[in-house]
Amino acid sequence: KENLLEVKDLEVSFFTFAGEVKAVRGISYQLKPGEVLGIVGESGSGKSVSSYGLMGIIPEPGRVIGGKILFDGKDITALSEKELQKIRGKDIGMIFQDPMTSLNPVYTVGNQIDESLRKHTSFNKEQRKVRMLELFQLVGINQPEKRINQYPHEFSGGMRQRVMIAMALACNPKLLIADEPTTALDVTIQAQIIELLKELKERIDMSIIFITHDLGVIADICDKVAVMYAGNIIETGSIDEIFYEPKHPYTWGLLKSMPKLVVSEHERLIPIEGNPVDLINPPRGCAFAPRCKYCMKVCIDKIPPVCTEDRGHAALCWLPVKEAYEKEAAHDKTK
Ligand code: SF4
Ligand code: MG
Repeated sequence: KENLLEVKDLEVSFFTFAGEVKAVRGISYQLKPGEVLGIVGESGSGKSVSSYGLMGIIPEPGRVIGGKILFDGKDITALSEKELQKIRGKDIGMIFQDPMTSLNPVYTVGNQIDESLRKHTSFNKEQRKVRMLELFQLVGINQPEKRINQYPHEFSGGMRQRVMIAMALACNPKLLIADEPTTALDVTIQAQIIELLKELKERIDMSIIFITHDLGVIADICDKVAVMYAGNIIETGSIDEIFYEPKHPYTWGLLKSMPKLVVSEHERLIPIEGNPVDLINPPRGCAFAPRCKYCMKVCIDKIPPVCTEDRGHAALCWLPVKEAYEKEAAHDKTK
């Protein structure tokens, strides 16, 4: 299958009074139709910002300063705001952490979905209503006839997220970007929303980018994972590769901080120790070095290479190279 999305060496910076904050420092990934990519990282790792780039909604004073975003063969970074508006909400849908801030409290939810349908389809009023009821059914909201005439505050957190999903799916997007969509929800509801997204992925042939700080949440739904740290993808691979053969010390830490099996509300994640990276003056070598137990001299001096295995499992780290190097050295000695 052809790629639906190809991000190539994407760089995003924020031009602040304090200096240029290099929020995304050259990331690349591909997504095929129907694939689900999880982007995992802590806050400030660049995971949200990089996907705002896909929508052309990077907030001021940020902008794309390098790289390409090819969506359906078109470079999004080269499009005008008008052209972007055509893609946004039609070919690419987005759901956020807090549906309350993205829903307008003074309009009924039906009104808001209708707006998107009016903008992006040629449906008449009758057809739009049929579509709306269909959407509510699709996302599991009962009594859609009644519910479409209600206001956002009449919905619980979980139901509001379902409304947001319905809205995002209104025009059959090829790509859904989900930015921490379950973070504000309690654990049971969180699981229900993930289950719903999984179902939708099977039923509609759409790709999903699932952004989260919690690797555990996406284990069930993702085909592949990109772990971000300090504006870089530091490891990428299939869900199994990331969970069972992680290669980067940061990923090891993430997995260790993951609650085991059943996630209970009372279990807290153990944060990985250390301060966030200064993205105005990023370190010369590996950005994770100050927090890394395995840091070597070379890590401080030089940016680590991308070490890739056959199937595409890759890590941005000196360690895999070092092991290979040491093995070779040991082998040489025995000769
Ligand atoms: Fe740790 Fe070095 Fe790998 Fe960075 S490059 S994660 S400091 S071992
Ligand atoms: Mg974010």
